[in-house]
Amino acid sequence: MDQQEQMRCYFCGGEVVARQITHFRQTPQGTAEFRGVPCEVCLVCGEKYFSPETVRRMEELSTMPAHEYVQLPAYDYV
Ligand SMILES: [Zn+2]
Repeated sequence: MDQQEQMRCYFCGGEVVARQITHFRQTPQGTAEFRGVPCEVCLVCGEKYFSPETVRRMEELSTMPAHEYVQLPAYDYV
């Protein structure tokens, strides 16, 4: 990828850095966990930015059988 101009957070103007993260995303099958997703993360407020390519890839993945099924912790707010 080409060297890009330093991206700034749309919300707080903070510094945004490239990371690989675990991302939870709504899919037609419910909430799914995506691991090792390339993402730009704001160091100040934690806002995540995904490239259109990455979003498209996650949508594509969500139509395929999952690599693994994990049980998510669940809480009833009572
Ligand atoms: Zn921010």
